[in-house]
Amino acid sequence: MHYISTRNRNTHYNAAEVICRGLSREGGLFVPDKIPVFHESDFHAMCRMDYRGRAAKILELFLTDFTTDEIESAVASAYSVNFDSREITPIHEIMDGVWFLELWHGPTCAFKDIALQILPHLLTKSMEKTCENRNVCILVATSGDTGKAALEGFRDVPHTKILVFYPKDGVSDIQQLQMQTQFGENVAVCSVTGNFDDAQSGVKGIFSDLYLRQELDKNDWFLSSANSINWGRLLPQIVYYFSAYCDILNSGAVHLGVPIHFCVPTGNFGDILAGFYAKSMGLPIGKLICASNQNDVLTEFLSTGRYDRRRPFYTTISPSMDILVSSNLERLLFHITSGNTEKVCDYMESLAKTGAYKISPRHLANIHSIFSCGSCSDEQTKEGIGEVWRNFGYLMDTHTAVAYKVLQDYRVRTRDQTPCVVVSTASPYKFTAAVLDAIGVPVEGNGLDLIERLEDETGIVAPEPLRVLRSRKIRFTDNTEKENMSKVVKSFLIQTL
Ligand SMILES: *Cc1c(COP(=O)(O)O)cnc(C)c1O
Repeated sequence: MHYISTRNRNTHYNAAEVICRGLSREGGLFVPDKIPVFHESDFHAMCRMDYRGRAAKILELFLTDFTTDEIESAVASAYSVNFDSREITPIHEIMDGVWFLELWHGPTCAFKDIALQILPHLLTKSMEKTCENRNVCILVATSGDTGKAALEGFRDVPHTKILVFYPKDGVSDIQQLQMQTQFGENVAVCSVTGNFDDAQSGVKGIFSDLYLRQELDKNDWFLSSANSINWGRLLPQIVYYFSAYCDILNSGAVHLGVPIHFCVPTGNFGDILAGFYAKSMGLPIGKLICASNQNDVLTEFLSTGRYDRRRPFYTTISPSMDILVSSNLERLLFHITSGNTEKVCDYMESLAKTGAYKISPRHLANIHSIFSCGSCSDEQTKEGIGEVWRNFGYLMDTHTAVAYKVLQDYRVRTRDQTPCVVVSTASPYKFTAAVLDAIGVPVEGNGLDLIERLEDETGIVAPEPLRVLRSRKIRFTDNTEKENMSKVVKSFLIQTL
C-alpha cells in the first residue's frame, strides 16, 4: 500500500512516512493510492472478533509496512481499560432501526480518543521505521475535544512534547478545565485570542515557517500534527463503522448486505470521511448524512457543489463543529474526481485566493450518490435533546443532537426509513449547561457544579474522568495573540534545549 499527495500524483510514500510527515510538502493531504475491499468472508470473520481484533484487521490493510505484531501491540495498548466500556464503541438502540454509536467511552469522553489513544503508538513506531531519531513536538489547534484527547494520548510518551492552542472563548468550561489540569511532564496548553480558525491558521502558519523549523531542526526537534489531517488519525476511525455494522448484524436486526445510513455530526470532515472510506471498502453503508450546526458551509457545499467560506462565523452550543474550513474535504475531492490532482490544486488555490470554489456537476452528482446533508440551529439542537430524553430516557450531548435532528428532518423530507446509526461523539457531561437547559432545568453555576446537577436531575452517573476534575489543580493559564503563537512554540521547546 502506498500513499500519494492530494496535490501531486507523483509522490509515493509508505504509511510510516505519511504518519511522521502529517502534511505533504506542497500542502496536500496523504491518501491511499488504492482502497482495499472487504469480502463476505471478511465480514463473517470480523463479526466474531472483539474491537481490538476488528481494529487490527482494518489497520493491517493500510499499514502494510508494519508487522502484525506491531499493529496488534498498538491496538492492545490503545483500546483497553482506558475505555470504560468493554466494547470500546458500544451501540445503543433507541427505537427500531435507530442506533447511537457511542464513541465517547475513552479517557476524555469524546470521540477523538478513538484515534488519539492509538496515534502516539503508531507515530513512535513510524519514527523508528523511518530512522527519525530527532524528537517530535506535536502542535495542536483545537476546537475543544482534540486538544484534551491529544494531551492524554501523548503525555509522557518518550521523545515527544505536545503543545495545544485553543480559542479563548470557543470551548466549554469543562473542556477548558480538562486541558488546564492536564498531567504530564511533556505537555503545555495556551489559549489564543480569537476563534478556532484563528488558532488553526496560526498553527498552519507555524508549520510553513521555514526559518523556525530550521532553528528547531538544529536542536533535534521536528514538528508534527495530531489534527485530523494526519492519516494516522483518520485510519483508526474507519474501524468503528465496521464494528457498529458487525454489532448490528450480531444483534439480528439486519442481514449482511442490508444498507444502513450513518448520520455524522461534522466539523473538520474527519469522522464522516472515515465513513466514506468504510463505504468504499465495501461496508454496506446507504447514505452518509453530514450534519452541521449553524455553521452550515458543508450543507451548502454538499447540496450545491459550491464551497464558500466567506460567511459569518457562529459560536454555537456544539463548538467542536464550529468550523468554516473543513480540512479533510480535500481528501474527498481527490477521491470523487478519481484522483485528479490538478483539479484539487485548482480548487484549493481558489479557496486560498478567493475564499470559494465550485466543483463540476458531474462530481456533484457523484457526491449526491453517497452523501446527504442538513443543518440545524441551537434551538433545534436543544429541542432534540429534550425530546429524546423525555421519549426514550436517553441523554445526548449537543453534537450528537445536531445529528439526531438532521436525521429526523431527513426522514421527514425523504420518507426514507432505512435503518440508521447516529454517530454519538461526546458525553453529555462535557456540555452540561446546554444539556441541562435543553431538558428544562434552569442553569446557573460553573461547569463542575453543573455536572452534579445533571447527575441529580437524570440519575445518570457522570464519567469518572469528568467527576475527578474538581480535585485537580489548574496548571496552564497562558493566553496569546495569534501573531505570537510561534514565540510560544519556541519558548516551550527552547527552555529544555
Ligand atoms: C471533533 C468533533 C466533531 C467533528 O468531527 P470532525 O471529524 O471534525 O468532523 C463532532 N463532535 C465532537 C464532540 C467532536 O469532538
